[in-house]
Amino acid sequence: MDKLEKEAIMKQTKKAFDRCPICGGELVEKRVEKLLRGGVDTAVVKVHAEVCLHCGERLYSQETVRRFEEIRGKLERKDVANFQHIGQSFQVAVSC
Ligand SMILES: [Zn+2]
Repeated sequence: MDKLEKEAIMKQTKKAFDRCPICGGELVEKRVEKLLRGGVDTAVVKVHAEVCLHCGERLYSQETVRRFEEIRGKLERKDVANFQHIGQSFQVAVSC
């Protein structure tokens, strides 16, 4: 299952999962950093997520996923006036 599919599942679920849907592990609420990409730009977003203690899977609430989409849209439109500039991002090609 890829990331988009997982986000889609969360969208249909009002309440967070009790158990990890991937491995059945225990979930704890944590503050995490999520990297969002829109066009060539990226944004680091600090959000609450349910994180699986067993496999590390992150689950986001419906509201959080909607915010992600909003932020991706803003990045694509270069509507970043309210975003804090924290540095440059680089792409590095490594052949290994
Ligand atoms: Zn898990």
